[in-house]
Amino acid sequence: MQFNEELEKLENKGLKRILKNFEPDKSMLRGKINNQKVINFSSNSYLGIENHPKIANAIKKTIEQFPLSASASRLITATNSIVTKTEQKISEWKNQKALIFNSGYTANLGVISAIANRNTDIFLDKLNHASIVDGAILSRAKINRFPHNNTEILEKMLKKSNASQKIIVVDTVFSMDGDISPIEKISELSKKYKAFLIVDEAHATGVFGKNGGGICEKFGISNKIDIQIGTFSKSMGLVGAYVVAKKEIIEFLINKARSFIFTTALPPFIYAGISEAIDIVTSLEGEKLRKILSKHINQVKQSGIAIETQIFPYICKTIKETMEKYNQFLQNGILALPVRPPTVPQGTSRLRISLSAGHSQKEIELLIKNLTQTTF
Ligand code: PMP
Repeated sequence: MQFNEELEKLENKGLKRILKNFEPDKSMLRGKINNQKVINFSSNSYLGIENHPKIANAIKKTIEQFPLSASASRLITATNSIVTKTEQKISEWKNQKALIFNSGYTANLGVISAIANRNTDIFLDKLNHASIVDGAILSRAKINRFPHNNTEILEKMLKKSNASQKIIVVDTVFSMDGDISPIEKISELSKKYKAFLIVDEAHATGVFGKNGGGICEKFGISNKIDIQIGTFSKSMGLVGAYVVAKKEIIEFLINKARSFIFTTALPPFIYAGISEAIDIVTSLEGEKLRKILSKHINQVKQSGIAIETQIFPYICKTIKETMEKYNQFLQNGILALPVRPPTVPQGTSRLRISLSAGHSQKEIELLIKNLTQTTF
């Protein structure tokens, strides 16, 4: 591999990724970039609880009583009372058996590659997250990607398939476009064509549903989904992921999901933090935060911007224009990071903007002003 040549090619196309320094100011929603103060509209902190004192206290208390590292995998010595209680809490929240993975990425990778195999036809929305695609590739299943949210084509593909196992995997809220998947229709199709259905609620957990359980809770269809996956790294302000399903599926994953089996578990204090974050998200406080967030979403909508959830894209025509817009916003104290191919399809370079209950009304107003008044 000619590393420098490859890097140069990326550079010439305006696609070279670099690590930027962002210094958070206690919360992830404000901080400094290039020594300039900015309001962060690029985080996944949708409820703004990543510095919540109750979570911090639960973590501090656990650090005093438990080791800082699990020092082994879950199947060896990393399953203890904190882990068990936290998984029990997730089960009560989501009404199904739960298993915690170290991240959303490893959950998707492990779950899909454990269940799908060479005899599987797997059906993925074109805009599914990379971790879903990677899980499917690792499984060696035949991958069928349907156009974004296009259930007609999905149905045609399902009808055509005569594989012994069919699996559909979709995000419920899409990470780069923020739109909601037609999950009710997809669950109908999964029943009609006997396809196993896995959903990724990464961007919906904490944000939708009366108890913050996600889009499936909001639409009352959780019992029609075979496996729900969600992360604690976004609205829940921490790290890690949950997988919920029937007891036998969870037991199967404990035996077969390699990204669960062959890795050191999260440290005990993280499980304690997750438990506290669930308490917050399912409480009246969680409801209030969701109300604030939906007020912000409505405010943006009223300014004429197309927005369905807390995430929305500001699509620019070219990579050059995306970078110009990014710099313009930055000068005005707004951090909205550019997202370019291959993370998003060619020709759809954008600033990915996300709102949080932790943003103030004034900050939302400043964002709207920038979105509606800045010109190229
Ligand atoms: N699924 C989706 C839809 C995501 O957007 C992401 C992260 N951006 C993940 C999974 C991975 O989650 P984590 O960051 O917890 O690894």
